[in-house]
Amino acid sequence: MIFFENTEIAFANKSTSSLRRALWLFRILQIGPLYVFWSKLMGFCVKYRLPVSWIVKRTYFKQFCGGTSLDESVLTVVKLAKYNVKSILDYSVEGNKSIDEIRKTMDESVRGIELPACCANIAFAVLKPSAICGEDILSRLNSNNGIDISRNTNVFRERVEELCWKAYEKKISIMIDAEDVVFQDFIDETVTEMMEKFNRDKIIVYNTIQMYRTDRLEYLNKCLERAVSKGYKLGFKLVRGAFMEKERARALQMNYSSPIWPDKDSTDRAYNQALGFCVYNIDKISILAGTHNEESCFFLTELMKKNGVAKNDSRIYFAQLYGMGDHISFNLACEGYNVAKYIPYGPINKVIPYLIRSANENSSIAAQASRERSLIATELKRRKKIKL
Ligand SMILES: Cc1cc2nc3c(=O)[nH]c(=O)nc-3n(C[C@H](O)[C@H](O)[C@H](O)COP(=O)(O)OP(=O)(O)OC[C@H]3O[C@@H](n4cnc5c(N)ncnc54)[C@H](O)[C@@H]3O)c2cc1C
Repeated sequence: MIFFENTEIAFANKSTSSLRRALWLFRILQIGPLYVFWSKLMGFCVKYRLPVSWIVKRTYFKQFCGGTSLDESVLTVVKLAKYNVKSILDYSVEGNKSIDEIRKTMDESVRGIELPACCANIAFAVLKPSAICGEDILSRLNSNNGIDISRNTNVFRERVEELCWKAYEKKISIMIDAEDVVFQDFIDETVTEMMEKFNRDKIIVYNTIQMYRTDRLEYLNKCLERAVSKGYKLGFKLVRGAFMEKERARALQMNYSSPIWPDKDSTDRAYNQALGFCVYNIDKISILAGTHNEESCFFLTELMKKNGVAKNDSRIYFAQLYGMGDHISFNLACEGYNVAKYIPYGPINKVIPYLIRSANENSSIAAQASRERSLIATELKRRKKIKL
């Protein structure tokens, strides 16, 4: 039985000084008003390139990011690989509006696909749809209103297809992130097309399913029926979903019923049901469980055991964000499961706004920070005791 409380394994890759730094960072994240002040200060420093931004780089950035460039992030990949933990490098630059910025992101994504081909410790390439299209266009494509749909639809499809082709040529799987419900139908449609095209022998394309949505179990069923009838395989990153408050507020404002389960228990149940559905259909579906939820991770290990799936079966991955959930990642990896860390990287002034926004949008961050803080404190006490 897997035991996530072993902090010696969880933090074996961290020095005592980096654990102390993490401890005070999680203290800040845990206290809402303090975090709001801290994130505004960071945003201000980075925006105006104030000299204090080196503090941000040595604290927040160091804890949650792999590096400022792909090459720098490879060092992080190598460090994790020593503990049997693979990496997923995520170029976390957002808000791209101009063609130039989008082209730069496309070029960086291509480099991100080419790199895993020569670095076995990178498990997947990743793509954030709004980074290659822009949120305004995506939302209008979804609602089919107000713009030259066919031209923009084709541009988005062509960009996604260009990256999927590249991944196919390099034999590396590519994961497409899930975003707001208002963009997601159109993303799902495009990624399904790509799965049909590229997932014939090996699973190259993975879509992301947000299980906080009430319609996703039915959607998974439909995806399977379609894949079976058309003869291709499915790849899914299963997450709970990051934009709960925003989705509920939008539904209220626009007067439609919320697409999100009414409570956490329902989301948890749906998430575990989705894990069960995928493991039961493992011959047709490969998954990556993107979660910091210990119960879900434990549940998945039990499902694997029950269904006779080996711990290192390449069709099942666990993944946590870099700098969080190390007790899950490193204990699972130590037991021989496939584990990857999702590692944001990019120029500091572009990645910090993304990290701040993600933390602000995700109400579960305070609870997660509290858990992280208590695990780190336990490990620091353990190290102190050994020294005595
Ligand atoms: C590797 C990785 C990749 C990710 N990629 C994406 C992505 O592409 N798109 C995306 O949207 N998110 C993504 N996420 C974030 C993810 O969706 C969750 O927001 C985050 O991981 C917290 O959920 P949890 O399962 O880890 O933990 P938990 O703390 O168990 O769950 C918290 C989550 O439960 C749900 N929840 C909380 N309260 C309620 C409530 N009252 N009612 C209903 N539901 C509730 C919310 O989804 C909340 O985020 C990713 C996470 C990881 C680890």
